Amino acid sequence: MKTEIPYKIYLSENEMPTHYYNVRADMKKKPAPLLNPGTLKPMTAEELGGVFCSDLVAQELDDTTAYIAIPDEIRSFYKMYRPSPLVRAYELEKRLQTPAHIYYKFEGNNTSGSHKLNSAIAQAYYAKKQGLRGVTTETGAGQWGTALSMACAYLNLDCRVYMVKVSYEQKPFRREVMRTYGATVTPSPSMTTEVGRRILQEHPNTTGSLGCAISEAVEDALSRDGYRYVLGSVLSQVLLHQSVIGQEAKTAMDKYGIVPDIIIGCAGGGSNLGGLIAPFMGAQLRGENRYHFIAVEPASCPSLTRGRYAYDFCDTGNVCPMAKMYTLGSGFIPSANHAGGLRYHGMSPILSELYDQGLIEARAVEQTSVFEAAEYFARVEGILPAPESSHAIRVAIDEALKCKETGEEKNILFGLTGTGYFDLIAYQNYNDGTMTDYIPTDQELEASFATLPKVDR
Ligand SMILES: *Cc1c(COP(=O)(O)O)cnc(C)c1O
Repeated sequence: MKTEIPYKIYLSENEMPTHYYNVRADMKKKPAPLLNPGTLKPMTAEELGGVFCSDLVAQELDDTTAYIAIPDEIRSFYKMYRPSPLVRAYELEKRLQTPAHIYYKFEGNNTSGSHKLNSAIAQAYYAKKQGLRGVTTETGAGQWGTALSMACAYLNLDCRVYMVKVSYEQKPFRREVMRTYGATVTPSPSMTTEVGRRILQEHPNTTGSLGCAISEAVEDALSRDGYRYVLGSVLSQVLLHQSVIGQEAKTAMDKYGIVPDIIIGCAGGGSNLGGLIAPFMGAQLRGENRYHFIAVEPASCPSLTRGRYAYDFCDTGNVCPMAKMYTLGSGFIPSANHAGGLRYHGMSPILSELYDQGLIEARAVEQTSVFEAAEYFARVEGILPAPESSHAIRVAIDEALKCKETGEEKNILFGLTGTGYFDLIAYQNYNDGTMTDYIPTDQELEASFATLPKVDR
């Protein structure tokens, strides 16, 4: 007799991962190294140590250790909101009349409302362990800043957040959550940093960008004793921390003998997708199994589907190391009517390399179709999804509908990264029918590519 699969597959605390899994260890061709923008040589641990905490530098540079123990302090924090449920979307399947089995790993069950807390607590922990006083960071939509504020409050670390100005103004409640957890929140670009003043002089009316906020946060960290900069996505250390998502999902599926055929995640900087697919990708790289991995990005910020695989700056002010990644150019700013998050110009070097090797498929979707999927999902499954997560929902529904045509009983797993309570202006635009789609033209992208640094590597 077949075991009935419950709506939610919960794990016990003892089944939570004890180690982070580093997919780079199983990659034959490794992601390209970060470069010093001055010398164009690979960044050394010493150079990176000026900006990042030392344990995180070690993780960033480690291409070979497959399993890195999760310190007990971090695991204790995880226990407050993990393991996160793996949900069988029975209602969605019924409504779509698909033979496919749809599963989602829900990371929105914590106050920050997203998966970002998984890395925030790790980064804050290593900063505290090093005896630092505080950390600085940037935040776009605000989930990362909230997550980091929570982690810093728990560990009694100072937290300084540069928030992209347009979000600071559009999402005052997000700002207040951060302040409630003790963070200092500054709209970016600001007059408090040199790079902020320079950007404001050149573009007095700018509403800010992630790349610009990163430059300000780095400058702030460098100008204070006992501070380091931390980043919520893109870096390999962040994907490493997020591997708890994929490991839990795999443990839960293994319990019921479920093997996912298709694994889908939205991709901004690549951390949730990288974390969700990590153990599955590892199995594939070791030749144990094969999966269909799909990265979903907005058509208005299409770094994988239309970007160049090249060395680029990670920030607007060119203060960070350079990374080889799929990129639209560090000056690229998505159209102002883009509401769905995932607006970073580049993509994680790990995912970029896996994509370049043909191991991941990428799809770009337009925001009105993303919100259509979001609304459908909210009404059927009950959860109000974050716009970012809804990119993955869109493609999960598309794939389930394909199964309906072919009659295939595929197992579809997608990452439901967070909730959308702070994205109601975007939902309002969608409900009012004023949301539009914007796809950058080839000329716009070419103009942005022309600013890519010339690096012979
Ligand atoms: C930040 C965020 C994302 C995108 O970031 P990745 O690093 O690509 O995972 C997706 N969903 C939610 C809810 C987020 O907060």
